[in-house]
Amino acid sequence: MDYKGQPAGNPPPPPPGYGPPPPAYGQQTTTVITAGYPMVAQVFRESSVPMQCPYCHANITTTTTYETGTLTWLICGILILFGLWLGCCLIPFCIDGCKDVVHSCPNCQQTVGKFSRM
Ligand SMILES: [Zn+2]
Repeated sequence: MDYKGQPAGNPPPPPPGYGPPPPAYGQQTTTVITAGYPMVAQVFRESSVPMQCPYCHANITTTTTYETGTLTWLICGILILFGLWLGCCLIPFCIDGCKDVVHSCPNCQQTVGKFSRM
């Protein structure tokens, strides 16, 4: 009589882990509160806007100057892509409607805002 030794079907249980890892302290996320921002929330457009200057606190109407902006370069690039590179790509630099508008205070000459077309 031969008998078949049955293999032990019970693997040894895994060693008990020592619980979950401790929670990581010291990673406090500091919430930056942007309230109290000195700049007045003002929507700037192409034309001058009446506002209070955040620098000299005078009631002013902003003076606008045009500045080459992202859209100017974008239109220039598009014109180049379309083959209009014989000087035509310089057209957007001559059109104020393609440029950004910088608002400045006529009283203290500080830049108080900017209207970007992008
Ligand atoms: Zn001012």
